[in-house]
Amino acid sequence: YQQIVLASRPQGHVSPDNFRLESVPVPSVVEGQVLVRNHFLSLDPYMRMRMEDIKSYAAPQALNAVMVGGTAGEVVESKNPKFKPGDKVVGMFGWAEMGLSDGAGLKKVDTAQIPLSAYLGSVGMPGMTAWYGLTQIIAPKAGETVVVSAASGAVGSVVGQLAKARGCRAVGIAGGPEKCAYVVNELGFDDCIDYKAGNLKADLAAATPDGIDGVFENVGGEILDACVARMNPFGRIALCGLIAGYDGEPMVLNNLRTLLTMRLTVRGFIVSEHPELWPQGLTELGQMVAAGKLKFRESIAEGLAAAPEAFIGMLKGKNFGKQLVKLI
Ligand code: NDP
Repeated sequence: YQQIVLASRPQGHVSPDNFRLESVPVPSVVEGQVLVRNHFLSLDPYMRMRMEDIKSYAAPQALNAVMVGGTAGEVVESKNPKFKPGDKVVGMFGWAEMGLSDGAGLKKVDTAQIPLSAYLGSVGMPGMTAWYGLTQIIAPKAGETVVVSAASGAVGSVVGQLAKARGCRAVGIAGGPEKCAYVVNELGFDDCIDYKAGNLKADLAAATPDGIDGVFENVGGEILDACVARMNPFGRIALCGLIAGYDGEPMVLNNLRTLLTMRLTVRGFIVSEHPELWPQGLTELGQMVAAGKLKFRESIAEGLAAAPEAFIGMLKGKNFGKQLVKLI
């Protein structure tokens, strides 16, 4: 089967040369092990940070090792009593068509009402990220205004829908009129600002007439600055991601003074560090998806060899919704 390894670390923007496609033999399964064929690979912005050898919350991705990543697939062979062939499972097999596991970190999922791919999106890590930042950091009351950047994406789309379900005014920020129309018309946000239109500050002011109580930040830079400037006293900022800076772009916060004068709370978080809350969050998200109350969209690249281009595209906003690679 095929797999993709990290061949070199990026200097600035990621390039296809940073990856290498390899063929490896299918391993034999020994007692206690499970062999899985991956149907979907999840591409996520955090992988960009792992590609660098810098101090972070996780160790860097090793060179010449399979790129890290969440996967969803099907058990093809099992010598582990907890799994049988045909079971649908999510795991962390990385950028590979197959994976061998001792069962640790492998989770069976029910695809009767929820499609397999959603366990990598709205009912998986990105959905849980939205749920954690919104409910545990912003903790909005009904009637408050919540703004989320990268609003049409895997995390942002869930943030706004959860905020609406809690009686908030949900305002998105996204790149381009098509994404903004989707955020309002399909996802049900109250408004969405196209930051590429060139009137970010004025458009944000018009969309948040009562100021902003909660910011779910996925981007950083000018977008975060514009949001901070409109925050109400005791507002909360869930600092989830800073994708505008992942290739090394400088990040400046000009409105630092507002943190003081408005007595704001800023909290960064890493969703994988809160496993105790995942069952609660994923239950709510799963029920909403099964009931059709949580909508999502996917961008699907075909075949493992397409993963590098799809990943590079996602970092530039070419994805529209959760970026996946379909492996079969
Ligand atoms: P998305 O599906 O939102 O895809 C990334 C999007 O980011 C792009 O589509 C693009 O949307 C936007 N973007 C890229 N570059 C820029 C830029 N320079 N300025 C503005 N927007 C940009 O990805 P996810 O939902 O998976 O991730 C969203 C954020 O959440 C990321 O920052 C990620 O690192 C973070 N995250 C954090 C976690 C945690 O535990 N803290 C866990 C999971 C994700 P557009 O076209 O609208 O610009």
